[in-house]
Amino acid sequence: MKTPHIIIIGAGPGGLTAGMILASKGFQVTIFEKEEIIGGRNKPLILGNYKFDLGPTFLMMSYILEQVFQLAGKNVHDYLKINRLDPMYRLSFKNFYLDVTNNHEEMARRIDKLFPDAKSGFENFMKREELRFKYMKKCLEKPYLSILDMVGKDLLKALPHLAIGRTVNDVLTDYFKDENLKICFCFQSKYLGMSPWECPGAFAMIAFVEHYFGIDHVQGGLSEISCAMAKVITELGGKIHTNTKVKKIAVKDKTSTGIILEDGTKIEGDEIIINADFAYAMSTLFEKGLLKKYSKENLLKKKYSCSTFMLYLGLDKLYNEPHHTIYFAEDYHKNTDEIAHKKVLSEDFSFYIRNASINDPTLAPKGHSALYILVPVPNNTSNIDWNKIKNEYRDKVLKRIKEQTSMKDIETHIKEEHCITPLDWENMGIFNGATFNLAHNLMQMLYFRPHNKFEEIDKCYLVGGGTHPGSGLPTIYESGRITSELIIQKYKSV
Ligand SMILES: Cc1cc2nc3c(=O)[nH]c(=O)nc-3n(C[C@H](O)[C@H](O)[C@H](O)COP(=O)(O)OP(=O)(O)OC[C@H]3O[C@@H](n4cnc5c(N)ncnc54)[C@H](O)[C@@H]3O)c2cc1C
Repeated sequence: MKTPHIIIIGAGPGGLTAGMILASKGFQVTIFEKEEIIGGRNKPLILGNYKFDLGPTFLMMSYILEQVFQLAGKNVHDYLKINRLDPMYRLSFKNFYLDVTNNHEEMARRIDKLFPDAKSGFENFMKREELRFKYMKKCLEKPYLSILDMVGKDLLKALPHLAIGRTVNDVLTDYFKDENLKICFCFQSKYLGMSPWECPGAFAMIAFVEHYFGIDHVQGGLSEISCAMAKVITELGGKIHTNTKVKKIAVKDKTSTGIILEDGTKIEGDEIIINADFAYAMSTLFEKGLLKKYSKENLLKKKYSCSTFMLYLGLDKLYNEPHHTIYFAEDYHKNTDEIAHKKVLSEDFSFYIRNASINDPTLAPKGHSALYILVPVPNNTSNIDWNKIKNEYRDKVLKRIKEQTSMKDIETHIKEEHCITPLDWENMGIFNGATFNLAHNLMQMLYFRPHNKFEEIDKCYLVGGGTHPGSGLPTIYESGRITSELIIQKYKSV
Protein backbone atom coordinates (compact mmCIF):
# COMPACT_ATOMS: atom_id res chain seq x y z
CA MET A 1 0.00 0.00 0.00
CA LYS A 2 1.32 3.46 -0.86
CA THR A 3 2.08 5.73 2.09
CA PRO A 4 -1.08 7.65 2.89
CA HIS A 5 -0.73 11.38 2.28
CA ILE A 6 -2.12 13.57 5.08
CA ILE A 7 -2.69 17.22 4.22
CA ILE A 8 -2.95 19.63 7.15
CA ILE A 9 -4.40 23.11 6.62
CA GLY A 10 -2.70 25.42 9.10
CA ALA A 11 0.45 25.25 11.22
CA GLY A 12 -1.13 26.29 14.53
CA PRO A 13 -0.65 24.19 17.69
CA GLY A 14 -3.38 21.72 16.63
CA GLY A 15 -2.03 21.14 13.12
CA LEU A 16 1.56 20.87 14.33
CA THR A 17 0.68 18.33 17.04
CA ALA A 18 -1.17 16.13 14.55
CA GLY A 19 1.62 16.59 11.98
CA MET A 20 4.26 15.52 14.46
CA ILE A 21 2.42 12.39 15.63
CA LEU A 22 1.38 11.26 12.14
CA ALA A 23 4.83 11.87 10.61
CA SER A 24 6.34 9.71 13.38
CA LYS A 25 3.95 6.87 12.47
CA GLY A 26 5.13 6.82 8.87
CA PHE A 27 2.43 8.92 7.19
CA GLN A 28 3.43 11.41 4.49
CA VAL A 29 2.57 14.73 6.12
CA THR A 30 2.30 18.04 4.29
CA ILE A 31 1.25 21.20 6.12
CA PHE A 32 0.10 24.30 4.25
CA GLU A 33 0.26 27.54 6.23
CA LYS A 34 -1.02 30.82 4.80
CA GLU A 35 1.29 32.99 6.92
CA GLU A 36 5.03 33.47 6.59
CA ILE A 37 5.63 32.34 10.17
CA ILE A 38 4.30 29.09 11.64
CA GLY A 39 2.44 28.85 14.96
CA GLY A 40 -0.93 30.51 14.23
CA ARG A 41 -2.11 32.40 17.31
CA ASN A 42 0.88 30.78 19.06
CA LYS A 43 3.50 32.39 16.80
CA PRO A 44 6.21 34.88 17.77
CA LEU A 45 5.82 38.57 17.12
CA ILE A 46 9.15 40.31 16.56
CA LEU A 47 9.35 44.10 16.87
CA GLY A 48 12.92 45.34 16.43
CA ASN A 49 14.98 43.78 19.24
CA TYR A 50 11.92 42.61 21.15
CA LYS A 51 10.21 39.22 20.99
CA PHE A 52 6.63 38.61 22.07
CA ASP A 53 4.17 35.76 21.99
CA LEU A 54 1.28 36.76 19.78
CA GLY A 55 -1.24 34.80 21.86
CA PRO A 56 -0.76 32.12 24.54
CA THR A 57 1.42 33.03 27.52
CA PHE A 58 0.20 30.53 30.17
CA LEU A 59 1.39 26.97 29.66
CA MET A 60 -0.76 24.68 31.77
CA MET A 61 -0.61 20.88 32.12
CA SER A 62 2.75 20.75 30.38
CA TYR A 63 2.70 16.98 30.90
CA ILE A 64 0.36 16.79 27.87
CA LEU A 65 3.02 18.54 25.80
CA GLU A 66 5.56 16.00 27.08
CA GLN A 67 3.20 13.18 26.10
CA VAL A 68 2.57 14.38 22.53
CA PHE A 69 6.32 14.70 21.96
CA GLN A 70 6.76 11.17 23.39
CA LEU A 71 4.11 9.90 20.98
CA ALA A 72 6.23 11.32 18.18
CA GLY A 73 9.24 9.49 19.65
CA LYS A 74 10.84 12.69 21.00
CA ASN A 75 11.70 14.21 24.35
CA VAL A 76 10.29 17.73 24.61
CA HIS A 77 13.14 18.71 26.95
CA ASP A 78 15.64 18.14 24.12
CA TYR A 79 13.89 20.99 22.30
CA LEU A 80 12.58 23.39 24.95
CA LYS A 81 13.63 24.87 28.25
CA ILE A 82 10.45 24.75 30.35
CA ASN A 83 10.47 26.63 33.67
CA ARG A 84 7.89 26.44 36.46
CA LEU A 85 6.67 29.87 37.60
CA ASP A 86 6.40 30.70 41.29
CA PRO A 87 4.37 32.75 41.95
CA MET A 88 2.18 31.52 39.12
CA TYR A 89 0.59 34.96 38.81
CA ARG A 90 -0.46 38.02 40.76
CA LEU A 91 -4.15 38.86 41.11
CA SER A 92 -4.57 42.58 41.66
CA PHE A 93 -7.74 44.08 43.11
CA LYS A 94 -8.39 47.68 44.02
CA ASN A 95 -7.22 47.37 47.65
CA PHE A 96 -5.06 44.28 47.74
CA TYR A 97 -3.20 41.74 45.67
CA LEU A 98 -2.62 38.02 46.00
CA ASP A 99 0.48 36.27 44.68
CA VAL A 100 -0.78 32.84 43.72
CA THR A 101 1.55 29.89 44.27
CA ASN A 102 1.05 26.19 43.67
CA ASN A 103 2.76 25.44 46.95
CA HIS A 104 -0.52 24.50 48.63
CA GLU A 105 0.47 25.11 52.24
CA GLU A 106 1.86 28.52 51.39
CA MET A 107 -1.24 29.30 49.32
CA ALA A 108 -3.51 28.37 52.24
CA ARG A 109 -1.42 30.65 54.47
CA ARG A 110 -1.72 33.58 52.02
CA ILE A 111 -5.47 33.09 51.72
CA ASP A 112 -5.83 32.93 55.48
CA LYS A 113 -3.94 36.19 55.88
CA LEU A 114 -6.22 38.07 53.49
CA PHE A 115 -9.49 36.21 54.12
CA PRO A 116 -9.67 34.88 57.69
CA ASP A 117 -11.45 31.49 57.92
CA ALA A 118 -11.22 30.84 54.18
CA LYS A 119 -8.32 28.36 54.41
CA SER A 120 -10.60 25.34 54.81
CA GLY A 121 -12.54 26.47 51.71
CA PHE A 122 -9.29 26.25 49.73
CA GLU A 123 -8.56 22.80 51.11
CA ASN A 124 -12.07 21.63 50.20
CA PHE A 125 -11.68 23.16 46.76
CA MET A 126 -8.48 21.20 46.13
CA LYS A 127 -10.02 17.92 47.33
CA ARG A 128 -13.37 18.19 45.56
CA GLU A 129 -12.02 19.57 42.29
CA GLU A 130 -9.39 16.84 42.14
CA LEU A 131 -12.21 14.34 41.99
CA ARG A 132 -13.99 16.33 39.26
CA PHE A 133 -10.74 16.53 37.29
CA LYS A 134 -10.16 12.78 37.64
CA TYR A 135 -13.53 12.01 36.04
CA MET A 136 -13.50 14.81 33.47
CA LYS A 137 -9.96 14.05 32.27
CA LYS A 138 -11.00 10.69 30.84
CA CYS A 139 -13.86 12.33 28.92
CA LEU A 140 -11.55 14.89 27.39
CA GLU A 141 -9.10 12.30 26.06
CA LYS A 142 -11.48 10.48 23.70
CA PRO A 143 -13.48 11.47 20.65
CA TYR A 144 -17.27 11.97 20.60
CA LEU A 145 -18.25 10.89 17.11
CA SER A 146 -21.65 9.40 17.83
CA ILE A 147 -24.41 10.33 20.25
CA LEU A 148 -23.83 6.86 21.75
CA ASP A 149 -20.43 8.11 22.94
CA MET A 150 -22.43 10.36 25.27
CA VAL A 151 -23.62 7.25 27.12
CA GLY A 152 -20.15 5.71 27.31
CA LYS A 153 -19.02 4.53 30.75
CA ASP A 154 -16.50 7.35 31.29
CA LEU A 155 -19.05 10.08 30.70
CA LEU A 156 -21.72 8.31 32.75
CA LYS A 157 -19.28 8.05 35.65
CA ALA A 158 -18.37 11.71 35.22
CA LEU A 159 -21.99 12.93 35.07
CA PRO A 160 -22.44 13.51 38.82
CA HIS A 161 -19.28 15.62 38.72
CA LEU A 162 -20.22 17.84 35.79
CA ALA A 163 -22.17 20.32 37.94
CA ILE A 164 -24.86 20.40 35.24
CA GLY A 165 -27.10 23.45 35.50
CA ARG A 166 -24.52 25.33 37.60
CA THR A 167 -21.96 27.91 36.55
CA VAL A 168 -18.32 28.17 37.63
CA ASN A 169 -19.32 31.02 39.93
CA ASP A 170 -22.08 28.84 41.48
CA VAL A 171 -19.59 26.06 42.14
CA LEU A 172 -17.13 28.46 43.78
CA THR A 173 -19.88 29.50 46.20
CA ASP A 174 -19.56 25.98 47.67
CA TYR A 175 -16.05 26.86 48.85
CA PHE A 176 -15.76 30.59 49.41
CA LYS A 177 -17.96 33.39 50.76
CA ASP A 178 -15.90 36.43 49.81
CA GLU A 179 -16.70 37.63 46.28
CA ASN A 180 -13.11 38.62 45.53
CA LEU A 181 -11.75 35.29 46.73
CA LYS A 182 -14.26 33.55 44.48
CA ILE A 183 -12.93 35.62 41.58
CA CYS A 184 -9.40 34.32 42.33
CA PHE A 185 -10.66 30.82 41.49
CA CYS A 186 -13.17 31.53 38.75
CA PHE A 187 -11.59 34.20 36.52
CA GLN A 188 -9.98 31.24 34.66
CA SER A 189 -13.26 30.96 32.68
CA LYS A 190 -11.78 33.85 30.70
CA TYR A 191 -9.19 31.40 29.33
CA LEU A 192 -12.16 29.99 27.42
CA GLY A 193 -13.30 33.51 26.57
CA MET A 194 -16.33 33.13 28.84
CA SER A 195 -17.78 34.75 31.94
CA PRO A 196 -17.63 32.72 35.20
CA TRP A 197 -21.31 33.60 35.68
CA GLU A 198 -22.05 31.62 32.50
CA CYS A 199 -19.25 29.12 32.02
CA PRO A 200 -20.39 25.54 32.87
CA GLY A 201 -19.59 24.62 36.48
CA ALA A 202 -17.37 21.71 35.42
CA PHE A 203 -14.73 24.26 34.38
CA ALA A 204 -14.19 25.17 38.05
CA MET A 205 -11.50 22.53 37.68
CA ILE A 206 -9.34 24.90 35.57
CA ALA A 207 -8.15 26.71 38.70
CA PHE A 208 -7.56 23.32 40.32
CA VAL A 209 -5.42 22.27 37.37
CA GLU A 210 -3.28 25.40 37.80
CA HIS A 211 -2.84 24.81 41.53
CA TYR A 212 -2.17 21.11 41.07
CA PHE A 213 0.16 21.10 38.06
CA GLY A 214 1.51 24.67 38.16
CA ILE A 215 2.05 27.09 35.28
CA ASP A 216 5.10 27.03 33.07
CA HIS A 217 7.03 29.45 30.94
CA VAL A 218 9.09 28.38 27.95
CA GLN A 219 12.40 30.16 27.52
CA GLY A 220 12.09 32.39 24.45
CA GLY A 221 8.31 32.45 24.77
CA LEU A 222 5.55 29.90 24.21
CA SER A 223 5.90 30.34 20.45
CA GLU A 224 9.05 28.22 20.85
CA ILE A 225 6.71 25.24 21.30
CA SER A 226 5.38 25.72 17.77
CA CYS A 227 8.93 26.09 16.43
CA ALA A 228 9.98 22.89 18.21
CA MET A 229 7.02 20.98 16.79
CA ALA A 230 7.81 22.22 13.29
CA LYS A 231 11.41 21.07 13.77
CA VAL A 232 10.25 17.61 14.80
CA ILE A 233 7.96 17.38 11.76
CA THR A 234 10.79 18.18 9.35
CA GLU A 235 13.17 15.82 11.18
CA LEU A 236 10.57 13.08 10.66
CA GLY A 237 10.31 13.81 6.93
CA GLY A 238 7.14 15.95 6.95
CA LYS A 239 6.90 19.11 4.87
CA ILE A 240 5.67 22.54 5.91
CA HIS A 241 4.89 25.10 3.21
CA THR A 242 4.52 28.63 4.59
CA ASN A 243 3.06 31.58 2.65
CA THR A 244 0.78 29.00 1.01
CA LYS A 245 -2.89 29.63 1.47
CA VAL A 246 -5.39 26.86 0.83
CA LYS A 247 -8.28 28.24 -1.19
CA LYS A 248 -10.67 25.30 -1.16
CA ILE A 249 -10.97 21.71 -0.10
CA ALA A 250 -11.73 19.54 -3.14
CA VAL A 251 -14.78 17.38 -2.45
CA LYS A 252 -16.36 14.62 -4.53
CA ASP A 253 -19.43 12.72 -3.38
CA LYS A 254 -19.16 14.22 0.12
CA THR A 255 -15.56 12.96 0.36
CA SER A 256 -12.51 15.19 0.34
CA THR A 257 -9.96 14.37 -2.33
CA GLY A 258 -7.37 17.07 -1.77
CA ILE A 259 -6.92 20.82 -1.67
CA ILE A 260 -6.73 23.67 -4.12
CA LEU A 261 -4.19 26.41 -3.44
CA GLU A 262 -4.70 30.11 -4.16
CA ASP A 263 -2.73 29.80 -7.42
CA GLY A 264 -5.04 26.99 -8.61
CA THR A 265 -2.64 24.10 -7.95
CA LYS A 266 -4.50 20.96 -6.88
CA ILE A 267 -2.82 18.63 -4.40
CA GLU A 268 -4.26 15.21 -3.73
CA GLY A 269 -4.48 13.90 -0.20
CA ASP A 270 -5.82 10.72 1.38
CA GLU A 271 -7.01 12.55 4.50
CA ILE A 272 -7.40 16.28 5.11
CA ILE A 273 -7.00 17.82 8.56
CA ILE A 274 -8.33 21.33 9.08
CA ASN A 275 -6.53 23.41 11.72
CA ALA A 276 -7.76 26.80 10.48
CA ASP A 277 -10.21 28.54 12.83
CA PHE A 278 -13.31 26.33 12.72
CA ALA A 279 -16.06 28.77 11.66
CA TYR A 280 -13.69 30.67 9.34
CA ALA A 281 -12.75 27.37 7.66
CA MET A 282 -16.37 26.29 7.30
CA SER A 283 -17.33 29.60 5.72
CA THR A 284 -14.37 29.84 3.31
CA LEU A 285 -12.87 26.43 2.48
CA PHE A 286 -15.90 24.61 1.05
CA GLU A 287 -17.93 25.41 -2.07
CA LYS A 288 -20.99 27.45 -1.20
CA GLY A 289 -24.04 25.34 -0.37
CA LEU A 290 -22.06 22.14 0.29
CA LEU A 291 -22.32 22.20 4.07
CA LYS A 292 -25.67 21.92 5.80
CA LYS A 293 -25.03 21.58 9.55
CA TYR A 294 -22.27 24.19 9.36
CA SER A 295 -23.78 26.51 6.74
CA LYS A 296 -23.01 30.23 7.22
CA GLU A 297 -26.51 30.67 8.58
CA ASN A 298 -26.00 28.00 11.25
CA LEU A 299 -22.52 29.23 12.09
CA LEU A 300 -23.97 32.65 12.91
CA LYS A 301 -26.34 30.99 15.39
CA LYS A 302 -23.47 29.47 17.39
CA LYS A 303 -22.02 31.04 20.51
CA TYR A 304 -18.53 32.47 20.37
CA SER A 305 -15.89 33.47 22.91
CA CYS A 306 -14.98 37.06 23.65
CA SER A 307 -12.21 38.86 21.79
CA THR A 308 -9.09 40.67 22.99
CA PHE A 309 -7.51 44.07 22.49
CA MET A 310 -3.73 43.66 22.50
CA LEU A 311 -0.76 45.95 23.01
CA TYR A 312 2.78 44.70 22.58
CA LEU A 313 5.32 47.21 23.88
CA GLY A 314 9.09 47.06 23.51
CA LEU A 315 10.38 49.13 26.46
CA ASP A 316 13.88 50.44 27.16
CA LYS A 317 13.22 49.71 30.81
CA LEU A 318 12.59 46.56 32.85
CA TYR A 319 9.97 47.14 35.54
CA ASN A 320 9.96 45.09 38.71
CA GLU A 321 6.48 43.72 37.98
CA PRO A 322 5.56 40.00 38.18
CA HIS A 323 5.67 37.70 35.15
CA HIS A 324 1.86 37.56 34.97
CA THR A 325 -0.56 40.01 36.62
CA ILE A 326 -4.30 40.20 36.21
CA TYR A 327 -5.93 43.49 37.21
CA PHE A 328 -9.62 43.13 37.98
CA ALA A 329 -12.29 45.73 37.36
CA GLU A 330 -13.90 46.85 40.62
CA ASP A 331 -17.16 45.33 39.45
CA TYR A 332 -15.85 42.24 37.67
CA HIS A 333 -19.31 40.75 37.16
CA LYS A 334 -20.48 43.91 35.38
CA ASN A 335 -17.32 43.91 33.27
CA THR A 336 -17.83 40.29 32.12
CA ASP A 337 -21.52 40.96 31.46
CA GLU A 338 -20.65 43.96 29.29
CA ILE A 339 -18.23 41.83 27.30
CA ALA A 340 -20.51 38.83 26.82
CA HIS A 341 -24.01 40.35 26.64
CA LYS A 342 -24.18 44.10 26.39
CA LYS A 343 -21.28 43.96 23.90
CA VAL A 344 -19.91 47.31 24.95
CA LEU A 345 -16.52 48.45 26.21
CA SER A 346 -16.51 48.71 30.00
CA GLU A 347 -15.54 52.03 31.51
CA ASP A 348 -13.95 50.03 34.32
CA PHE A 349 -12.26 47.10 32.58
CA SER A 350 -10.02 44.20 33.65
CA PHE A 351 -6.67 43.66 31.96
CA TYR A 352 -3.70 41.32 31.99
CA ILE A 353 -0.02 42.23 31.78
CA ARG A 354 2.76 39.82 31.03
CA ASN A 355 6.21 41.04 31.97
CA ALA A 356 8.09 37.87 30.98
CA SER A 357 11.42 39.73 30.69
CA ILE A 358 11.56 39.63 34.50
CA ASN A 359 12.36 35.89 34.18
CA ASP A 360 13.50 35.51 30.60
CA PRO A 361 16.45 37.58 29.33
CA THR A 362 16.09 36.29 25.76
CA LEU A 363 13.06 38.45 24.90
CA ALA A 364 14.64 41.91 24.97
CA PRO A 365 18.08 43.56 25.23
CA LYS A 366 19.56 43.80 28.76
CA GLY A 367 17.62 46.26 30.90
CA HIS A 368 14.78 46.37 28.35
CA SER A 369 11.52 44.41 28.34
CA ALA A 370 8.88 43.00 26.02
CA LEU A 371 5.56 43.87 27.66
CA TYR A 372 2.33 42.16 26.57
CA ILE A 373 -1.03 43.66 27.50
CA LEU A 374 -4.37 41.92 26.91
CA VAL A 375 -7.79 43.43 27.52
CA PRO A 376 -10.81 41.08 27.14
CA VAL A 377 -13.39 42.87 24.98
CA PRO A 378 -16.58 41.89 23.09
CA ASN A 379 -16.20 39.87 19.91
CA ASN A 380 -17.24 41.38 16.58
CA THR A 381 -20.92 40.67 17.03
CA SER A 382 -20.75 44.07 18.81
CA ASN A 383 -21.16 47.35 16.97
CA ILE A 384 -17.79 48.68 18.09
CA ASP A 385 -15.99 50.54 15.29
CA TRP A 386 -12.40 49.55 16.05
CA ASN A 387 -10.98 51.54 13.13
CA LYS A 388 -12.39 54.64 14.71
CA ILE A 389 -11.57 54.06 18.36
CA LYS A 390 -8.34 52.04 18.22
CA ASN A 391 -5.98 54.92 19.18
CA GLU A 392 -8.34 56.35 21.76
CA TYR A 393 -8.68 52.92 23.39
CA ARG A 394 -4.90 52.39 23.35
CA ASP A 395 -4.52 55.67 25.29
CA LYS A 396 -7.20 54.59 27.74
CA VAL A 397 -5.41 51.31 28.41
CA LEU A 398 -2.08 53.07 28.97
CA LYS A 399 -3.78 55.54 31.32
CA ARG A 400 -5.11 52.64 33.41
CA ILE A 401 -1.66 51.03 33.48
CA LYS A 402 -0.14 54.26 34.77
CA GLU A 403 -2.84 54.55 37.43
CA GLN A 404 -2.86 50.95 38.62
CA THR A 405 0.69 49.66 38.26
CA SER A 406 4.18 50.81 39.20
CA MET A 407 4.80 51.68 35.53
CA LYS A 408 4.00 55.37 35.89
CA ASP A 409 6.47 56.51 33.22
CA ILE A 410 5.73 53.70 30.76
CA GLU A 411 4.95 56.01 27.83
CA THR A 412 8.40 57.61 27.89
CA HIS A 413 10.02 54.16 27.54
CA ILE A 414 8.14 52.79 24.52
CA LYS A 415 10.60 51.97 21.72
CA GLU A 416 8.42 49.57 19.72
CA GLU A 417 4.67 49.16 19.69
CA HIS A 418 2.07 46.98 18.02
CA CYS A 419 -1.66 46.85 18.58
CA ILE A 420 -4.23 44.19 17.61
CA THR A 421 -7.97 44.85 17.77
CA PRO A 422 -10.82 42.33 17.39
CA LEU A 423 -11.12 43.53 13.80
CA ASP A 424 -7.47 42.63 13.17
CA TRP A 425 -8.06 39.15 14.64
CA GLU A 426 -10.97 38.71 12.25
CA ASN A 427 -8.82 39.83 9.32
CA MET A 428 -6.30 37.16 10.34
CA GLY A 429 -9.00 34.51 9.75
CA ILE A 430 -10.68 34.28 13.15
CA PHE A 431 -14.46 34.18 12.83
CA ASN A 432 -16.13 37.10 14.66
CA GLY A 433 -12.65 37.93 16.03
CA ALA A 434 -13.53 35.40 18.78
CA THR A 435 -9.95 34.76 19.84
CA PHE A 436 -10.78 31.71 21.98
CA ASN A 437 -12.95 30.13 19.31
CA LEU A 438 -16.45 28.64 19.78
CA ALA A 439 -17.75 29.16 23.31
CA HIS A 440 -17.71 26.22 25.72
CA ASN A 441 -21.36 26.15 26.78
CA LEU A 442 -22.76 22.64 27.30
CA MET A 443 -24.43 22.62 23.88
CA GLN A 444 -21.04 23.20 22.24
CA MET A 445 -19.07 20.60 24.16
CA LEU A 446 -18.24 16.90 23.79
CA TYR A 447 -20.56 15.37 21.13
CA PHE A 448 -22.10 18.82 20.52
CA ARG A 449 -18.76 20.42 19.56
CA PRO A 450 -17.63 19.93 15.92
CA HIS A 451 -16.24 16.39 15.80
CA ASN A 452 -12.59 15.44 15.41
CA LYS A 453 -13.71 13.38 12.40
CA PHE A 454 -15.68 16.01 10.55
CA GLU A 455 -19.37 15.12 10.44
CA GLU A 456 -20.23 16.54 7.03
CA ILE A 457 -17.40 15.37 4.77
CA ASP A 458 -15.61 12.03 4.70
CA LYS A 459 -11.80 11.80 4.88
CA CYS A 460 -11.80 15.14 6.60
CA TYR A 461 -10.79 15.84 10.22
CA LEU A 462 -10.50 18.76 12.61
CA VAL A 463 -7.86 19.82 15.12
CA GLY A 464 -7.51 23.01 17.19
CA GLY A 465 -9.62 25.09 19.52
CA GLY A 466 -12.85 24.70 17.50
CA THR A 467 -13.13 20.94 17.92
CA HIS A 468 -13.20 18.58 20.90
CA PRO A 469 -11.92 18.94 23.63
CA GLY A 470 -11.69 22.73 23.21
CA SER A 471 -9.67 25.92 23.19
CA GLY A 472 -6.44 26.32 25.19
CA LEU A 473 -3.06 24.76 24.48
CA PRO A 474 -3.37 21.51 26.49
CA THR A 475 -6.78 20.69 25.04
CA ILE A 476 -5.59 21.65 21.56
CA TYR A 477 -2.62 19.27 21.89
CA GLU A 478 -5.17 16.70 23.01
CA SER A 479 -7.25 17.38 19.86
CA GLY A 480 -4.13 16.71 17.78
CA ARG A 481 -3.61 13.43 19.63
CA ILE A 482 -7.27 12.32 19.32
CA THR A 483 -7.49 13.14 15.61
CA SER A 484 -4.15 11.47 14.81
CA GLU A 485 -5.24 8.38 16.69
CA LEU A 486 -8.45 8.20 14.60
CA ILE A 487 -6.39 8.29 11.40
CA ILE A 488 -3.83 5.79 12.72
CA GLN A 489 -6.64 3.37 13.68
CA LYS A 490 -8.28 3.76 10.28
CA TYR A 491 -5.13 2.71 8.43
CA LYS A 492 -4.39 -0.10 10.87
CA SER A 493 -7.59 -1.76 9.81
CA VAL A 494 -7.16 -1.20 6.04
C1 LIG B 1 -4.48 36.55 22.68
C2 LIG B 1 -4.58 35.09 23.00
C3 LIG B 1 -4.12 34.62 24.21
C4 LIG B 1 -4.19 33.25 24.51
N1 LIG B 1 -3.67 32.81 25.68
C5 LIG B 1 -3.63 31.49 25.93
C6 LIG B 1 -2.88 31.02 27.05
O1 LIG B 1 -2.28 31.80 27.79
N2 LIG B 1 -2.84 29.68 27.26
C7 LIG B 1 -3.48 28.79 26.44
O2 LIG B 1 -3.40 27.58 26.67
N3 LIG B 1 -4.17 29.23 25.35
C8 LIG B 1 -4.26 30.54 25.07
N4 LIG B 1 -4.89 30.98 23.93
C9 LIG B 1 -5.76 30.05 23.15
C10 LIG B 1 -5.09 29.05 22.18
O3 LIG B 1 -4.12 28.31 22.85
C11 LIG B 1 -4.46 29.67 20.94
O4 LIG B 1 -5.35 30.50 20.30
C12 LIG B 1 -3.95 28.61 19.94
O5 LIG B 1 -2.93 29.16 19.15
C13 LIG B 1 -5.04 28.10 18.99
O6 LIG B 1 -4.51 27.05 18.26
P1 LIG B 1 -5.24 26.34 17.04
O7 LIG B 1 -4.45 25.12 16.69
O8 LIG B 1 -6.67 26.18 17.32
O9 LIG B 1 -5.21 27.36 15.80
P2 LIG B 1 -4.45 28.66 15.35
O10 LIG B 1 -3.38 29.04 16.30
O11 LIG B 1 -5.45 29.67 15.02
O12 LIG B 1 -3.76 28.18 13.99
C14 LIG B 1 -4.47 27.99 12.80
C15 LIG B 1 -3.52 28.18 11.64
O13 LIG B 1 -4.23 27.93 10.41
C16 LIG B 1 -3.73 28.86 9.43
N5 LIG B 1 -4.71 28.96 8.34
C17 LIG B 1 -5.98 29.44 8.43
N6 LIG B 1 -6.58 29.40 7.21
C18 LIG B 1 -5.67 28.86 6.35
C19 LIG B 1 -5.72 28.57 4.96
N7 LIG B 1 -6.80 28.81 4.21
N8 LIG B 1 -4.60 28.05 4.39
C20 LIG B 1 -3.48 27.80 5.14
N9 LIG B 1 -3.41 28.06 6.46
C21 LIG B 1 -4.48 28.58 7.06
C22 LIG B 1 -3.59 30.14 10.24
O14 LIG B 1 -2.77 31.09 9.59
C23 LIG B 1 -2.98 29.61 11.53
O15 LIG B 1 -1.57 29.57 11.46
C24 LIG B 1 -4.80 32.34 23.58
C25 LIG B 1 -5.26 32.84 22.38
C26 LIG B 1 -5.13 34.18 22.07
C27 LIG B 1 -5.58 34.65 20.72
